[in-house]
Amino acid sequence: MEGWSSGQTPRRWASPKTTEERFWPHVEKTDYCWNWTASRKGVYGQFLMRNAAGKWYPETAHRVSYRMAYGEIPRGWEVDHLCLNTLCVRPGHLEAVTPTENRRRQAQPRVGESGRFRGRR
Ligand SMILES: [Zn+2]
Repeated sequence: MEGWSSGQTPRRWASPKTTEERFWPHVEKTDYCWNWTASRKGVYGQFLMRNAAGKWYPETAHRVSYRMAYGEIPRGWEVDHLCLNTLCVRPGHLEAVTPTENRRRQAQPRVGESGRFRGRR
């Protein structure tokens, strides 16, 4: 077997930064929304998170922000944007809802807090 010599030092991460330190430099704060500016997946921002086992996995940016602000999201729940801006990561604009509630909201025309309209009047 190769690669298991004694005296090998464990691999260290070049950057010991916390999630917060890695996350916020990619956010552009406006008077209203805090917009994600780094990579995207579809309409949402994407951010790499590390789990307890040290593995990296992609998570949507607004869910990362929600978890940093409020804690874990209940399993299966979704994080809805009250401002209707899918790139927004401002915790005050986010709300965890059940998938059923999210579908119900998406089916209705809504007025975002910013005054923008979704759907027809
Ligand atoms: Zn917002």
